[in-house]
Amino acid sequence: MRRGFKAEAERLADRTRAQMGIAPAEPASVRALAHHLNVEIVSADQLIDLHKLQALSAAQEGAFSAATFHLSADHVVIVCNPLNDPARTNSDIAHELAHLLLGHQVRELQTIAGHIFLTCDPDQEEEANWLAGCLLLPRQVLLREAFADATPDAIATKYHVSTQMARFRLNASGVNLQVRRARQARSGTPRS
Ligand SMILES: [Zn+2]
Repeated sequence: MRRGFKAEAERLADRTRAQMGIAPAEPASVRALAHHLNVEIVSADQLIDLHKLQALSAAQEGAFSAATFHLSADHVVIVCNPLNDPARTNSDIAHELAHLLLGHQVRELQTIAGHIFLTCDPDQEEEANWLAGCLLLPRQVLLREAFADATPDAIATKYHVSTQMARFRLNASGVNLQVRRARQARSGTPRS
């Protein structure tokens, strides 16, 4: 990830939330965020038969999570997989919204041996994953929860994300470290 991107992503997430009128420490759902960005969320079973999705999932687990379609300049649709659990789907939607917020170009189509593949730019994927985390669990929200001793499980339940995502954000955002240091400073003997 390029230098400075992580902090930039935190700011971009905060800015986007501020535009929605959401306070820094207030939670927001990814669906509300999508609505704000004028993006429609569609469950894939509204487009194709659920049995076909089940067959795809049986053939290759995790083959389809979510995809963004630019139907026209101002009509963007994110199609998500109804077979995934809601926490995973929220992450997938946040990931797709992150690509949009970062202005990433639509992934290239490549034909290999007669099959069409969507290629991903690994740098852009990494950036989208990072920003998705910032959108799902902003730093200010995490700080408040961490100071209140909320566990990753409790945070996951409260904000509709996976426990893995909660744990990742607590560490990667530096919030765990910040809370630990603040507590050490408070319990330490005052220097004379
Ligand atoms: Zn992606």
